[in-house]
Amino acid sequence: MKGIFPLEKLERIQTPFYYYDAELLRQTLRTITQEVSKHEGFCVHYAVKANANPKVLKIIREAGLGVDCVSGGEIEASVKAGFPSQRIVYAGVGKSDWEINLGLDNDIFCFNVESIPELEVINQLAAAKGKVARVAFRLNPNVGAHTHANITTGLAENKFGIDMRDMLPVMEEASQMSNIKVVGLHFHIGSQILDMGDFEALCNRVNELQNELERHRIRVEHINVGGGLGVDYQHPNRVPIPDFKDFFDTYAKKLKLRDGQTLHFELGRAVVAQCGTLITRTLYIKEGHVKKFCIVDAGFTDLIRPALYQAYHKIENLSSDEAPEAYDVVGPICESTDVFAKQIDLNKAHRGDLIAIRSAGAYGESMASQYNCRKLPVGYISEEL
Ligand SMILES: *Cc1c(COP(=O)(O)O)cnc(C)c1O
Repeated sequence: MKGIFPLEKLERIQTPFYYYDAELLRQTLRTITQEVSKHEGFCVHYAVKANANPKVLKIIREAGLGVDCVSGGEIEASVKAGFPSQRIVYAGVGKSDWEINLGLDNDIFCFNVESIPELEVINQLAAAKGKVARVAFRLNPNVGAHTHANITTGLAENKFGIDMRDMLPVMEEASQMSNIKVVGLHFHIGSQILDMGDFEALCNRVNELQNELERHRIRVEHINVGGGLGVDYQHPNRVPIPDFKDFFDTYAKKLKLRDGQTLHFELGRAVVAQCGTLITRTLYIKEGHVKKFCIVDAGFTDLIRPALYQAYHKIENLSSDEAPEAYDVVGPICESTDVFAKQIDLNKAHRGDLIAIRSAGAYGESMASQYNCRKLPVGYISEEL
């Protein structure tokens, strides 16, 4: 064991691979369900796009969460993992017909609708099946989030959602459609948000919109505020579980639910990021004139976050206790962006050392690709090793 890792077991597996700590995932889920149970009408969905590994999904399903899907494939993965279809919500700016039909066939809880043309198609497809589709309108609340520009979604300039100024006309239009039932409003302002003030700003916006609806004597059953709670990438050991209490308390205090309304959340990163580690092996230490490179066998095909949005992941050498030295940790892919970290301290590294790239459970395995004809990384869960 080095720290939290069962080193002898990991040594036997072909690198690179993902290692998921089932115990930490369960603890995280227990924290979520405990905190949620303190608030009446709160309901948590897991955002499948963060990690769709079947073994991870199974543990999340056992904890009783619903799911938030953003594609037909994710609906299929969720149904296969045993999530009840009444607990599935489906969002996305570009739902294709087969995906909408799949949602209708499974009688999912709700389509989060992002435009009028989409609403019309859902109405037609539902009519063809003699069904009524439950929908929530995803409104763009024009609330900024203090996070990376590529993962903010709630600004007027982003492609997501319906302009909130169109809320009433859209509601009116939907009320004319025979195979549509409006059940809620949906929002999602971005990801890796650590400033509760951002969520407060969303609450204030939702309150304003609900007041406006009330003036027109409209009430929806459900409010869905999306996900976005961030994790501590700097300190995965010290802060393995995000502050769910603060998160849910913020909504309980600031968002004014009407009688009988339920409040839905769609958490992805905060559920799975810290339980996952990308384990990779050092291939070569290359001593340049300016820098020392630790070349590992994982690349951005396995974990794209650093290349895609300069994301930070804590990196550790699991095989060495020697004095730390500064390295650029890089992958084998033929792209200059295939860099996990620059000038970071690692215990002196040698060919064959196991390197742990931490906090990689969210948007890691699920974003893997086969560029360069590489193999997709396999995900292992601690209890199967
Ligand atoms: C990605 C996404 C989420 C989850 O975001 P996290 O930051 O991982 O919590 C929730 N809802 C929608 C609609 C999303 O697109």
